[in-house]
Order: sequence, then C-alpha cells, then structure tokens
Amino acid sequence: MKIIMLGAPGAGKGTQAKQIAEKYHIPHISTGDIFRANIKNGTELGKEAKKYMDQGMLVPDELTTNLLVDRIKDADCENGYVLDGFPRTIPQAECLDRALEGLGEKIDFAVNVEVPDENIIRRMSGRRACLSCGATYHIQYNPPKAENVCDACGSQLVLRDDDKAETVKKRLDVYHAQTQPLIDYYTEKGVLAQVDGTQEIDKVFSDIVAILGE
Ligand code: ADP
Ligand code: ADP
Ligand code: ZN
Repeated sequence: MKIIMLGAPGAGKGTQAKQIAEKYHIPHISTGDIFRANIKNGTELGKEAKKYMDQGMLVPDELTTNLLVDRIKDADCENGYVLDGFPRTIPQAECLDRALEGLGEKIDFAVNVEVPDENIIRRMSGRRACLSCGATYHIQYNPPKAENVCDACGSQLVLRDDDKAETVKKRLDVYHAQTQPLIDYYTEKGVLAQVDGTQEIDKVFSDIVAILGE
C-alpha cells in the first residue's frame, strides 16, 4: 500500500504516519526526518537543507525529489510506504508520478489531515521532537512518559529550531501557497481521503484505518 500524508505543518502527519507504518508493516518515510538526520551528521546535504529549513522555506525541489525517488527504490519499499512531508509542491508530485509510472506503480491513498491554522501555532510551540528516531510528542496533548525523554529510544527531546512562532507563520504561508494545491491534484486522481485532524490522536487514527481498511 502506497500512502501520502497531506496537511499543514503540525497537522499530525508524522504522528499518524508512525502508527500507519506499524499497523500495515510499511516504512515511514519523512523527508523532514531525513534532512534533520543529515543536519545532525553534518553532511553537505544537511548544510544545504538547513539554510532553507531555518527560514521556514522549502528545500529546492531537485534536492528533495532525487532523495525521495532513490529512497522508494530500496528493498523495504517493496510492499509500499507512507510518505510524510513529500510531495510538498506540484512539481514534486509530478516527479513522483513519473517515477512511479516507470516502475509500473501508483499511489493508493493521499490522506489529508485537516487542522485550521489557529490550532497549529499552539501545537507547534508544545511539540517536542526526538532527532534520533523521529518520534514527536506534545507537552500537553501527547506527553512522553518521562519529561523530555523519548519513550521509543531514550534520547533527549528538543524544541525544533523551526517550531518558533515566527517561523511557523512563514511555514503556514508556504503551505497555503505551495502545498495546499496538492489537495486538488490528488482529488483529480481519485485518491484523496479527508480526515478531521482536530480530534484526539486515537480517533484520527481510527478514521484513517476506516479508509485504508483493516
Ligand atoms: P512538519 O512535519 O512540521 O511539516 P517537516 O519535518 O515535514 O515539518 O519539514 C521540515 C522542513 O523540512 C520544511 O519546513 C522544509 O524546509 C523541509 N522539507 C521537508 N520535506 C520537504 C519537501 N518535500 N520539499 C521541500 N522541503 C521539505
Ligand atoms: P506534522 O508531522 O504534521 O508536522 P506532528 O505529528 O509532528 O505533525 O504533530 C504536531 C504536534 O501536534 C506534535 O506535538 C504532536 O504531538 C501534536 N499532535 C499530533 N496529533 C495531534 C492531535 N490529534 N491532537 C493534539 N495534538 C496532536
Ligand atoms: Zn527517539
């Protein structure tokens, strides 16, 4: 099963994608996590990506698309994957479609997690991220068992550099201008599914399972 998660920054794409990956035994592929891992390891890609990420801007399509198209050719992607944070622009979606066509494959579902902008800023200021395994928490809505420690891997949690309120506003503008058009794109392809992302995490997940099937 090949799934794309759509939604504003902070809508809960990563939170849901992790659970989808576990339930359906497919890899969770987050371009944001890949960039952050590269930044942490000081790679050239990380240095380049950081320039854009810190400003709330998108990393250029070419860099992002090449990375993603390579990743989905890995052996663990044979039975599908859940893409979180990609595609984020129409050109990225078109490149993905072309790459899939070449492999004789297609996207099965694009799940749009809908959350109004008003809720997003509150969510982001409380978000705590694990840069080792990509898990995210919320100090109020989804706290870790021990304060500031990742349940999954024991690493220290951080407030991401780009989760500051000013950067989040910029990211929301970028989302509306460049990513929201993908909702129409996948509607036209007949694979869009809408989910109300303002509900509790477990309810959002059960709505998604109802769409994807048991
Ligand atoms: P969030 O989950 O909060 O939306 P991500 O971890 O997906 O954030 O992305 C963080 C940042 O990484 C983005 O603001 C952008 O700079 C960069 N990024 C991630 N995915 C992409 C992509 N597909 N295209 C361009 N930039 C991306
Ligand atoms: P995205 O990947 O779309 O940027 P995340 O999954 O990282 O979003 O979620 C953003 C923040 O909101 C995190 O702190 C997360 O714990 C919290 N969160 C996710 N889903 C919900 C929800 N349904 N209700 C309340 N908070 C949520
Ligand atoms: Zn972790």
